[in-house]
Amino acid sequence: MKEIVSTQQNYFKKGKPKEVSYRKEQLRKLKNTLKSNEKRIFEALDADLKKPYFETYETELLISYQEIDHILTNLDRWARPQKVSGSLFNFPSQNYIYQQPYGVSLVIGAWNYPLQLTLNPALGSMAAGNCTILKPSELAPNTSSLLAELINNTFNAGYLKVIEGDAETTQEVLNQPLDYIFFTGSSRVGKIIMKSAAKQLTPVTLELGGKSPAIVDKNTDLSIAAKRIAWGKFINAGQTCVSPDYVYVHQSIEDKFCQLLQDYIAEFYGSDPQQSSDYARIINNDHFERLTNLISPQNIYHGGNTDPSDRYIEPTILTGIGWNDEVMEEEIFGPILPILTFKKLDQVIEPINNYHSPLALYIFSDSKEKQETLIQSISFGGGCINDTIAHLGNLELPFGGIGNSGFGNYHGKSSFDLFSHSKSIMKKRNWPEVPLRYPPYDGNLKWLRKLSKLL
Ligand code: NAD
Repeated sequence: MKEIVSTQQNYFKKGKPKEVSYRKEQLRKLKNTLKSNEKRIFEALDADLKKPYFETYETELLISYQEIDHILTNLDRWARPQKVSGSLFNFPSQNYIYQQPYGVSLVIGAWNYPLQLTLNPALGSMAAGNCTILKPSELAPNTSSLLAELINNTFNAGYLKVIEGDAETTQEVLNQPLDYIFFTGSSRVGKIIMKSAAKQLTPVTLELGGKSPAIVDKNTDLSIAAKRIAWGKFINAGQTCVSPDYVYVHQSIEDKFCQLLQDYIAEFYGSDPQQSSDYARIINNDHFERLTNLISPQNIYHGGNTDPSDRYIEPTILTGIGWNDEVMEEEIFGPILPILTFKKLDQVIEPINNYHSPLALYIFSDSKEKQETLIQSISFGGGCINDTIAHLGNLELPFGGIGNSGFGNYHGKSSFDLFSHSKSIMKKRNWPEVPLRYPPYDGNLKWLRKLSKLL
């Protein structure tokens, strides 16, 4: 690890990664590498998660392609020193913000979108002019080893390097002098990462999880709400950091809503989702066991079937759920959807706010007033009105959490900003020389007060 990090430090010092033309060339090279290996990427994700090819293209590859294209279009402008207005106290002066890369970044990825969650932050790091070490999750071993092979055979190790391994490997690299750490994963490990980073005062971004609610009011297109919630919940078998963890539905429409959810599950995955090529599997046996224990038989409205030999869990809806049930204790991160009910909107605000700021929140309501009330009164990372997950698809929208769901935003320009230090520079001439600021200060205070009122 020591050698890997020092190789990158030396390469960074040589200055190549700071050249905008070099950054663009490397990003194009990465896109070409992905493009020419799509088949192998589909196969790796199929082996890790039985991820449908469509989902691999939509939620892993396309996201990376779009991010690269967006950077290539805008990088010249982002990287240029930005001129800002001057202050009268320092007249005349020219003022600029220079974007400076940090140096060597470490990107630690999660297993649920094992390609995209490792590559996308790295794209921001590369765009900003850093050298980058990627550590994909060991829980998606096929994607991890393919990423290592593709990147390590294509790029100079001083610039871009994949290291593989578990917590021990990560700890080893965290002990090196890094300049930026970007972590995606659980809040539990996020705390460990931050503690390690603190030892060397390394800046850190934590993209964590949370219990993201969907709120369904009675005045909404119920069919669209059920369809978009079923899609957002069961894509990747519920193993999505921004999937609706649970639904708060108005009591008067609960039956209709649950019926619609059930209909859409059948429409998406057929009468036996285990036979569907469009439905993913649980990542490993530990998570399979954890999730099956959350299915309380007395609450099953739909689904509940499981098959350990295939790590299959049927899309499952639980009703009659309250905050004291085990399924409401932690982020579910699987295809189990608890339904809670409310009579007045106020009843949802307090319990959600008690849950330490979820990563996402989704509101299905035709009332602009209710939409605004919920947006303004609940703390959460980001979300949608009348949809789920879709906000991640707009590169103009910063993506990140708050509180227990993490801190720091990325995607699009936010990624570039995140991996850049904004260096403020004031350029002055040698004249005029204002004597007021220099000691001795006799009588100067009076003039400073007068001047500050004028300016
Ligand atoms: P995790 O925290 O178990 O692991 C994430 C990474 O940390 C892996 O690469 C792993 O090797 C490493 N790691 C594990 N233990 C470590 C330790 N003790 N020291 C150092 N490194 C260690 O998370 P996960 O199970 O891969 O992912 C699931 C979680 O991630 C969920 O909570 C989910 O909501 C969250 N998530 C968040 C986002 C987001 O963008 N905010 C995206 C995906 C997943």
